Parts: sequence; C-alpha cells; structure tokens
Amino acid sequence: MLAGDYCRAVEKAGGIPVLLPALAACDRPLRSFCQGLLLSGGGDFDPAYFNEAPHPRLGTVDRDRDCWEILLIRKAQAESLPILGICRGVQALNVAFGGTLYQDLPAQYPQQPNRPLLPHDQPAPGGPATHRVTIKAGSLLARILASTEIWTNSYHHQAVKDPATNLRVTARSDDGVIEGLEGTGDHFLLGVQWHPERLENTDSQRLFAAFILACRQIT
Ligand code: MN
Repeated sequence: MLAGDYCRAVEKAGGIPVLLPALAACDRPLRSFCQGLLLSGGGDFDPAYFNEAPHPRLGTVDRDRDCWEILLIRKAQAESLPILGICRGVQALNVAFGGTLYQDLPAQYPQQPNRPLLPHDQPAPGGPATHRVTIKAGSLLARILASTEIWTNSYHHQAVKDPATNLRVTARSDDGVIEGLEGTGDHFLLGVQWHPERLENTDSQRLFAAFILACRQIT
C-alpha cells in the first residue's frame, strides 16, 4: 500500500501518522487534532485551479481531493503548522498559493537543444535514484540535507511551472525542472518533487526527521 511508505517514514522519524479522508469542509483548527501537514503523492491536479483548460495529456483528476488539499494547506499556513509536500504535494502547495503547473512535462516543457528534458517518469519501481537535483545554498533544503546536490527518484509527468509568489524555488534537476519549493517565512514549509519515502538513504530520512522535529515544537 502506497500510504504505508509515508506512514513508516513518519513513524521512523518519531511522529504518529494520521491519515485524513477528503472531506468537504473543516470548521476546526488543524492544531486541535494534528501538529503538521504532510501532503502525499497522487494523481494529476485539475488545471481549473490555475485557470487552464485540460491538456490532452492530462491524467485522471480528483476535484474532491484537490479542493480538500487546498483547504488544508491554507489552514495549515494560517495556523503556522509545518507543511511537507511530496511529489503531487509540492504541486498542491504551489496551486494552493496561486502558482501554476505543467500539465504534462514532455508535451509542455520548453526544451533547449543543450538541455533536453530528462525522463521524470522513471519506469523502475521501488525507488532507485535516477536524476540529480541541485539545491540552492543556504536554503532550508540545503541545511536539512547538509548538501547542495542529491540524486533522487522521479515519478511525475506534471511539475511546477510558475511558482507562487510566497514560495521560492530551491531545487532543480539538470534540465531546469523545479524539484523543490519552500516558504519565504519562518515556519517549516517545504515541498519536493521526488519521493523520499521510497528512497532508502539517510538523506531522505533527514527530510522526515526535520519535518517531525518542527511538528514537535507545535504546542
Ligand atoms: Mn524529477
């Protein structure tokens, strides 16, 4: 089960994972029942949320999930709760704050002759690292990983296009595709395009450890 990888990663880092179904609304503070928000991977985002018509290569969308995640992100941000977005999760963060996505990288990404698009939808299951990601020095991500470079897995055909104004790009693959976003404020707000929960190396565990540490500081 896919959720199992996330749950194990959170548990290993010392947190207690609580899975939420997609609800229509939530009138209680998130702080009354959790100390952080982890957004998992999943299907495509409905482009209606960033004012675009569907591209022919758009995959299956789930508007109930899109709507619920946008609501959760805005609530978590308003309550200064730590947020970690993974794969679709980084895209959800961007859309929730007003950014846009490539609906399909191979069809829409502006490629340059000297910088061809890498295969971001790797065929190999199980999570071996397949492409490099370069990280901005001094960013939250660089501080967590204690490095400005990491090799990651890649299971996405969508990606962040125009980042939201309150997010900054802190990681890219060699073809320029955005692989990491983070908040400009003080609280823990981080999204990565790869799947650390499926990578069995200490770099990936550091991401969950840093997130859970931030969650533990919420009272
Ligand atoms: Mn990738």
